[in-house]
Amino acid sequence: MDMEERRSHSQSTTAQTNTPVMNFLFLSGVLALDLVNTEVVVRGKRYDLFSSPGDVARWWQDAITHHPDVEDVRGETQAIVWSLSLLETMKQIRAAIRTLCTNLVEHQPLEQEAFATLNAILAMGYLALELASEQELIPTYRTREAEQGTILLPIVLSAFHLFTRAEKQRLHKCRNHRCILFFYDGTKSATRQWCSLECMNRARSLQHYQSVKKERTDRTAPAQAS
Ligand SMILES: [Zn+2]
Repeated sequence: MDMEERRSHSQSTTAQTNTPVMNFLFLSGVLALDLVNTEVVVRGKRYDLFSSPGDVARWWQDAITHHPDVEDVRGETQAIVWSLSLLETMKQIRAAIRTLCTNLVEHQPLEQEAFATLNAILAMGYLALELASEQELIPTYRTREAEQGTILLPIVLSAFHLFTRAEKQRLHKCRNHRCILFFYDGTKSATRQWCSLECMNRARSLQHYQSVKKERTDRTAPAQAS
């Protein structure tokens, strides 16, 4: 085994042991936030679940089953092209939505650049009338850019509804300060604070561990001093 081989071997081993197997998460209640949640923190390390156009294709398959009410955007042709350019655009949209969500939960002014990114996508779509029956017209959403528009528009329309129609006080970042996930609290009582029960338990056991450790340190500190 030469150096080059050894290096690539050790790299692949590292990748296998360090990258946990992660499923896409659909716990936020909103399509746009589920996109934001494709960036996760596991054991203190941040991971991007979108590393290839194939990841985006797999996520979208899952996303439309979790959000059957997703806006149906019609293209002139039907096929989405799973390209690197689509991957890049998805990441830009994701960053823009994360910025605006962060602005909202931290009570900061909304960043213009972030909603300009979303406006550029909204400009890909247009409303049209469609004949549903002999006497009935229904509104439809269409795009001339079917290769990307039929996936980007439903996501950005979800963000559009979230930012303009939803109750802002129900938008939250998970209370676990190590977690970066967002969700929309759809509970009747509006008391949801955590992305998941697992995350709540992890945060509480860490808090417990830290308080026990602090207690021990406090107890041993005078002994060390003497
Ligand atoms: Zn969490």
